Formats: sequence, structure tokens, C-alpha cells
Amino acid sequence: MAKNSEDRFKKIIAHAKEYGFVFQSSELYDGLSAVYDYGQNGVELKNNIKDYWWKSMVQYHENIVGLDSAIFMHPRTWKASGHLDAFNDPMIDNKDSKKRYRADDLIEEHMEKLQGKIDKEVKKARKRFGEDFDEEKFLATNERVVKYKEQIESINNRLVKALEDENLGELKQLIDDLEIVDPVSGTKNWTDVRQFNLMFDTRLGSLSDDSNKVYLRPETAQGIFVNYLNVQKTGRMKIPFGIAQIGKAFRNEIVARQFIFRMREFEQMEMQYFVRPGTEMDWFEYWKNERVKWHRSLGIPDEYYKLYEHENLAHYANAAYDIEFAYPMGFKELEGIHSRTDFDLSAHQEYSGRKVQYYDPETQESYVPYVVETSIGLDRLFLSVLSYAYEEEKLDDGSERIVMKIPPFLAPIKVAVFPLVRKDGLPEKAREIINGLKYDYNCHYEEKDAIGKRYRRHDAIGTPYCITVDHQTLDDNTVTIRERDSMKQDRIPIDNISPIVWERLRENRG
Ligand code: ATP
Repeated sequence: MAKNSEDRFKKIIAHAKEYGFVFQSSELYDGLSAVYDYGQNGVELKNNIKDYWWKSMVQYHENIVGLDSAIFMHPRTWKASGHLDAFNDPMIDNKDSKKRYRADDLIEEHMEKLQGKIDKEVKKARKRFGEDFDEEKFLATNERVVKYKEQIESINNRLVKALEDENLGELKQLIDDLEIVDPVSGTKNWTDVRQFNLMFDTRLGSLSDDSNKVYLRPETAQGIFVNYLNVQKTGRMKIPFGIAQIGKAFRNEIVARQFIFRMREFEQMEMQYFVRPGTEMDWFEYWKNERVKWHRSLGIPDEYYKLYEHENLAHYANAAYDIEFAYPMGFKELEGIHSRTDFDLSAHQEYSGRKVQYYDPETQESYVPYVVETSIGLDRLFLSVLSYAYEEEKLDDGSERIVMKIPPFLAPIKVAVFPLVRKDGLPEKAREIINGLKYDYNCHYEEKDAIGKRYRRHDAIGTPYCITVDHQTLDDNTVTIRERDSMKQDRIPIDNISPIVWERLRENRG
């Protein structure tokens, strides 16, 4: 069962800080809202996730290559991509609490509440009817449920239409009609709904007039689009082919809550796949399935993932799926799979005045390729791993431990080596073992506190193996190896450590 609750979320955030995974940015100055720093263990986990994604995309596919484009781009890029005109969120303020919200979020939350009422009715009825309960029939016939469903549908239709038409007055009307109150002040004292552009801007060079205005990229994708011909030509790539990139993106989010789920500076891992026009839906299906498979290869159970098909599409897309994850605060978007048509490339062709067509040697035609993209937030993936992994366990002896069941190949530290005591040559032997392993695995040496405490510290950061060096080691070159999840300990020759760890790290990889 997926584990979620607000309380659990708070514990995970506290744990992430206590064990050097994630710190609030500029905490010394009371923090900067929705900006975070990754600590000594966080950076390792983050790098391991990046590495796995990069290998899965670039190393395992002969027709996908990488790119590292700059954060700053020519400002016309954002005119062409539509971000200057359309990368807006509708915002609304409550005059009493002075809090700002996304208008569409308020309405969606209202629909979620109605859905919650339906779920409650179903639960009650299941209890009442026991084994004879026919959920489908109940959902179709129960008066109250049917009424809630009709309400949800009608609200959703109005919301989708208002967003499509950018009708801010209608969004406000919906909030009024539904009598939505501010969760903080409890009042309906709302301002009008206004558009808010999410891009950060700054100035290039020393002049401060508008002609030098540049933007911090809100997505990494545009760096790929404007380079696609450079890569295609210099890499002699044939369609279909992909370009993958990992990099920072910036969005001035209106509501920036929920820890590293919604940040103003974050990292994206995107892959744009260039295809022949007319084949994009097949590739869209293909990448949707591939990405779901990839998530499964992390070893997190299927019930943590859900696919959601978008009705309200971004300005560049003709089809879109989200892969949602069961975060502690509920199912939320982790990754987007988008069919972006030729929207971006055609726009860059128009705005730059340069041809960006591909000559297809097979069909002997030139065309602007269509694009299917997979776009995942690295920080959201990090949070999914962290929130799945966090476990409070009651042990047989009555004690408790917090163990991070991070998939072993992603764990920040793979092997911790402990001398039983700080004398008799045991520390030297432990360091000798680390020296034999450190070129292959991130290892950690610890000699402070009793062994039990050292185990707990490494459980709390997800280290899959702890090795203890004792006096017997000096006689016969054996050590004890303790496995994180089972806590089982075995005595093994030092030479076997590396193959055992290697075997375990390969387990999850699809
Ligand atoms: P949302 O609806 O949650 O705002 P989005 O649909 O705007 O997300 P995309 O533009 O599709 O997101 O971006 C691709 C991916 O980038 C998302 O699936 C998500 O993982 C990540 N992402 C987007 N915005 C943020 C953010 N503010 N903080 C962290 N990750 C983000």
C-alpha cells in the first residue's frame, strides 16, 4: 500500500534535513522560499538518479545523444516558444489573509473534495453490503453519488473551457459560484483573477534597459530545439533520433509549497525525440510505455504510479500524459510525456528566418520533424524515492529504527566499514578494505560509537551494506557483512565483499 499522510510528509522533511539530504536554501537568513540545497547525502542520491536516467537514455539507446545547453538563451527563443505570451498561471489573492493562490488549483481542490465525498459513500456502502457490494452499479445508481459526479463534470467542463479561452472572469465566477473560501482566513473576499508569467528575467551585460533583458529558462527543452540541427548534422543522426539533457530550470511559481515538489529553481531531465510527421502518436505510445517500465525498474511497487491523460493541454501539445506518483500528500505529477507536434521547431523557423528542416534520405523529402518528449523533474523523482524509502520499523527486541529503503543502486553510500574498536590495528585494516573498494563504490569509514549506533546511522541514510572488522579479521581475513533491509549478518572473506555488493546493486536495474 502506498503510504501517504501529512504527518509522514513532515517526518520525511525533518529526516531529510537531519541526515544531510536536503536543506532549506539560505537557512542562516531564515531561508528563501521554494529554493533548496542538497546536502552531503542528497547530492550523492541526486547524482545517482541522474546517472541512471542518463545511462537509460543515452548509453542504452544508439539513436539518443546528450546535450548540455546554456541556461540563458536569446530572448526571441521565448517569444517563439510561446512562453512569453502563454506561460502564465491564473492567480487570485484573498484580501483578508493576503495569501495568493492559483485559481485553477482552488477549483481543482474543490472537485477533489467532491470526489472525496463519493469515495466516502462507496466505503460506507461496501461496509453495509459486504460481499454483495457491486461498486460499478452503486456508482451508476446511487442518487447522492450521481449528483456529485454531475457536479464534478460540470465544474470540470467550465474549468477546461475557461482555461482554454483564457477567460479569467469565468474563473472568478466559478470560484464565486462554488463559494470557495480561503483555507487560511475562511472568507470569500477574493480579488479578480489575473495572469502571472512564471519566467524570471534579468539583464545581460552592464546596460539596464529592456533591450538586454534575458530570461532564466523555464524548461530545458528549448536548448534542445535550437540545437537540433547542429546535433543532427554533426552527429549524422537519422530520424527517429533523440537528444537528452539534464539541467536547471526556473519558474516563479505562485504557490510554492510542498518542499522540493514545487520549487522556483529545479532540475529537469528531458528527452526530445524527433520523428517523421504522422508517426508521432505511435512514438507517443512507445515512450509512454517505456517510461512506465523505467519507473518500475527502480523497484518501487506499481501501486505508487498512476497514468493521467491531460484534457487541458499546454500551448505546444496535441496529447499529454502524466506519470503520477503517490507522494505523502497524494498522487501528483512526477513526469510528463508530451506530443509537441512541430510547434516549437516551426516557430523557431519562423522567428529566426532560418530553415530547420530535415532531409529524409528514405522518403527523399524535407520536413520539420515532430517531437515527442519525456520530461521529468529530478527533484520530484528524488522526493518520490525519499518518500517511498522512509520507513519506521518496530524490531523484534521492541526497539525501533528508521530505515531508508532506497533502491540499493541509488543509495548515497554503498558500503560502510567499521573497525569494532579503535585500536589493535583494526582501523588500519578497515581503511585497507575501503582502499580496495573505493574506486568502484562510494564507501564510508566510521569508528565512533558502538556498532549498533553506527548501523542505525547508516540505516537512516539507506546504506545497503555495513562491514565490521574485528580481531578475527586479522587472523583469517574475514569480516561480517550486514544487509540493511533484513539486518542479516554473515561472515565472509574480504575478497567476497565486492562481488556481493555488485550483485545486489544490479538487482533492480531493468
Ligand atoms: P505542474 O502542473 O506540477 O506545475 P507542469 O505540468 O507545469 O507541472 P511540465 O512543464 O510538464 O510541468 O514540466 C516537466 C516536469 O518538470 C514535471 O513533470 C515536473 O516533474 C517538473 N517540474 C515542473 N515544475 C516544477 C517545479 N516548480 N519544481 C520541481 N519540479 C518541477
